[in-house]
Amino acid sequence: MTKMIVIGAGVMGASVAYRLAQAGAAVTVLESTRVGGGTSSVSFSWTNAHRKPPKPYHDLNVGGMKAHAALREEFGAIPWWHGGGSLEWEAEADRAAQRDNVTQLQSWGYAAEWIDHKQVHELEPDIDLATIGDAPVAYFPDEGWLDPVVYAHAMLSAACRRHGAQVICGARVADLVIAGDRVTGVRTADGTLHEADMVVNCAGRWTNEAVREAGMHLPLAPTVGFLVFTPPVASSLSRVVRGTLIDAHPDGAGRLILHWNPTDATLRIDSKLSPSMPEARDLVQRARRLLPSIGEVEPEAVRIAIRPIPGDQRSAVGPVPRVGGYYLAITHSAVTMAPFLGAAVADEVVRGKPRAELADFRPARFFS
Ligand SMILES: Cc1cc2nc3c(=O)[nH]c(=O)nc-3n(C[C@H](O)[C@H](O)[C@H](O)COP(=O)(O)OP(=O)(O)OC[C@H]3O[C@@H](n4cnc5c(N)ncnc54)[C@H](O)[C@@H]3O)c2cc1C
Repeated sequence: MTKMIVIGAGVMGASVAYRLAQAGAAVTVLESTRVGGGTSSVSFSWTNAHRKPPKPYHDLNVGGMKAHAALREEFGAIPWWHGGGSLEWEAEADRAAQRDNVTQLQSWGYAAEWIDHKQVHELEPDIDLATIGDAPVAYFPDEGWLDPVVYAHAMLSAACRRHGAQVICGARVADLVIAGDRVTGVRTADGTLHEADMVVNCAGRWTNEAVREAGMHLPLAPTVGFLVFTPPVASSLSRVVRGTLIDAHPDGAGRLILHWNPTDATLRIDSKLSPSMPEARDLVQRARRLLPSIGEVEPEAVRIAIRPIPGDQRSAVGPVPRVGGYYLAITHSAVTMAPFLGAAVADEVVRGKPRAELADFRPARFFS
């Protein structure tokens, strides 16, 4: 049986591990902290293929959306994924770009339509329509959001129970073990050697920290992302909304998760965090203007993370050249794409079937 090590148990590592094990590999997942404890637990987690040109990258994301939906057939229920689509409206200056985007998405066969205020009210009765003003509202019915940690746990549980995989938490990979021109395993920080025929690095933003040899480092273009969580609030919001005040969706038990791109740009990964910080209060105030029924409420929690974005903003999925036995699966938007990429990686590394969809996303472009 082919022995495979997956580094990292976020949405990507969990998806890859599940599909590798299902395809017949003997899989060990090494995770330095806990399942989903990396960027996957600090994600807005909107599943979408929205404004993700060029077409091959859009297609990977559509593949992810379809793969999430298809898990229903395999698992019976997928309580970690929530549909309902998303609503979007823009400030005046951004409306031409929004129109172009909707037109392009429609031409690519992506579900995207314009709806009026009455329809917005039917979908989301708590939204104060006055805050939308005269902005056209686009509706993307196939989009949704994920509970990433619940998803990662479900994939890893299935990998272990159904297919004999092993997950070791608290195991930080300190380096690859290389013999000649092949990676033959990894060594963890406690000195344990784990041998393998193939190592798949799914360590997200930490991908290079698991590999000492600088020549094998993937260039990254990380950005900081900041999220605010409300306590349970009086809101019937049931889908992703992205407007001129705030981006929001439910986060279970009546909580809302809030994100605002311009605020991300004002923070650093080492910014001092607190639910009472002005940035958190500002996001909640914005949410209150959109959804007045939530009332006088203070932020309950804040989280910050670094997005694992390869240097040219595109996914990096494939073997690293000049060394055998080593494969990377690193991307932004992994919450959307992970189930698709997990299956594609298994096709390539276990079944030996190259996937054409990954042709534009090979790590080799960084290792010329
Ligand atoms: C604010 C924000 C909003 C986002 N919004 C969206 C969105 O709406 N839609 C979307 O699709 N994507 C979104 N993303 C991106 C998405 O969250 C990430 O692409 C995804 O979570 C990455 O998953 P991953 O499994 O690759 O990485 P991670 O979840 O970071 O998993 C990597 C794992 O590797 C472990 N690890 C690290 N180093 C080692 C080591 N040396 N040895 C062993 N284990 C190690 C870590 O502990 C971690 O658990 C967002 C990200 C942020 C920050």
